Amino acid sequence: MNRTKEVPGRIVCKNVTSGYRKKTILKDVSLTFLPGKTTVILGENGSGKTTLLKTMAGLLPYSGSITIDGAEIKDLSYKQRAARISLLSQMNSMYFSYTVRQTVLLARYRFHKGLFVQETEEDRKAAAQAMEKFDIYDIREERTSELSGGQLQRVYLAQLFAQDADCLFLDEPTNHLDMRYRVLLEREIRETGKTVIAVYHDLRDAVKVADELVLIKNGCILETGPQEQILRSKNLNVTFDMDVVL
Ligand code: ADP
Repeated sequence: MNRTKEVPGRIVCKNVTSGYRKKTILKDVSLTFLPGKTTVILGENGSGKTTLLKTMAGLLPYSGSITIDGAEIKDLSYKQRAARISLLSQMNSMYFSYTVRQTVLLARYRFHKGLFVQETEEDRKAAAQAMEKFDIYDIREERTSELSGGQLQRVYLAQLFAQDADCLFLDEPTNHLDMRYRVLLEREIRETGKTVIAVYHDLRDAVKVADELVLIKNGCILETGPQEQILRSKNLNVTFDMDVVL
């Protein structure tokens, strides 16, 4: 078998339990995310979607096993993890006010050794491309503290793409985006060719990008499979506690 041509980014969760301090949220979750595919995690508020993304990104302690292309997430160094996963969180707090350009460039630090680094031409190119992609190149010298919510979300999206990791984790990526940028983001997700795992609260947005859907309720996986299968499943109604009509 020729493995060199395989797309990277196969994530396998086996019997994963995780949560916060003494509060267990995810219970015995086993899931496989296919490389190069887009999987959307669906569930009500508080069902554990964000917790699942954070756990897979190595940000929360867990029991069980989470591997990415065979490597256990918690055994990876910060840089090794950054090469494999980039995460767009829902709540980004700004501690420092950088310019848009500096913020996007932060995503490139995984390519450098040491703490105080000078960006390379390649970093500048990757950042410029990502800024152009999300239409923020013209505001690159503005301070992030002075941007609108929608502009800031596009800065974070540019950062996510500039990092060029194997897998993109997106928590409610359309937050604050108006229609034009939602459509642009949908296209980027469909065309990226990377493994994408996204959390959406609106099923109508989810179906535009998802190859696979995962239904989660109270920290447990109800069902997972190709979009067409899940949209026909009775578990969709169970997930949302209502008759779902698309
Ligand atoms: P979802 O993304 O599906 O809305 P979350 O994963 O954010 O759900 O939350 C699942 C549960 O975990 C909720 O009961 C929530 O209150 C709890 N939770 C989320 N974040 C924290 C935290 N930092 N500390 C303690 N509990 C948390």
